[in-house]
Amino acid sequence: MKMVIVYHGRLEQIVGELERAKPVLDRRYAEIFGEEGAGKIAEASKRLLGPESFYDCVASLNSKVSSPLGSKFSSDIPSRHITLVSIQPDNLYASGFEKQQKLRTAPVIYIHPSGTLQTYIHEFGHFIWYALQSHPISVLNSLYGGHKIESFTDYSEKVLGQTRESDEEKMVKLQRAFWSLILGEISEKSNQILEKLILESIGVDVKLPWRGKEREYALHKKFGFRIPIDGDPFLGIGDYEVVKRMLTWQDYIVPKGPGAGNPISNLPFYYMLDSYLNNVRISRLPIGEFLQLAKKDKSSSHHKPQNHRQ
Ligand SMILES: [Zn+2]
Repeated sequence: MKMVIVYHGRLEQIVGELERAKPVLDRRYAEIFGEEGAGKIAEASKRLLGPESFYDCVASLNSKVSSPLGSKFSSDIPSRHITLVSIQPDNLYASGFEKQQKLRTAPVIYIHPSGTLQTYIHEFGHFIWYALQSHPISVLNSLYGGHKIESFTDYSEKVLGQTRESDEEKMVKLQRAFWSLILGEISEKSNQILEKLILESIGVDVKLPWRGKEREYALHKKFGFRIPIDGDPFLGIGDYEVVKRMLTWQDYIVPKGPGAGNPISNLPFYYMLDSYLNNVRISRLPIGEFLQLAKKDKSSSHHKPQNHRQ
């Protein structure tokens, strides 16, 4: 039997519960992702998750890493899977990534001290997507702000209220935030579906109130983005099919074929997504190696001219 789900954190309640449930859970992962998929998850968790990848204390999390946007995590954050990325959003081109850009990433899992096995299974689900998607959505979310509807509204007001920035600069910022909202929603909801499928195997029934509900949208006042505020982004698609599609999510979101003449792919935010999918090479590293390389970057950047490009 493959060691699909692993936990190297210190929370006793999770260690104990996982020990009992592990054989059933591992079998379930193999049913959902197939033997090959389960093998890939097992390999990734062995390579990328060690004791140093797990946190249950925000202070020690903050002493080790900063949030993807460079700020500190607040002391009341809920459990989460964090994808560290080696570039800051400000160093992205307006349209996205440079050709052949290399991006180092690393997974970190924070579990609130009151977290249960269910909490952990949810966060481990985010790790699975990160490990299996060729271009993980969580990387984009780290770069684009990881907005939810509430923070998007505030952020949007803030950006629009800026007087020093041009309309174009504001548009770029809002588009990134908008993408993180859209992709964040589908990645969170698909992960809830995965969580539900996994937990069924140990007799836990997860209710998803949004599932099967018609979509509701709000229109952005200034730019006319259609912002989803409720409902099911996978309406009419079965649970297993959702999981399958999310593994290659880009096939379902980006318009196929050459962009010319396609009004959708001519929208600037499709360029952003396109540059992520086509220009960037992603490496996934354990946090120790990631931090070491980040330190090296920092010390060598003192000797290089600013805005140096390869
Ligand atoms: Zn989540």
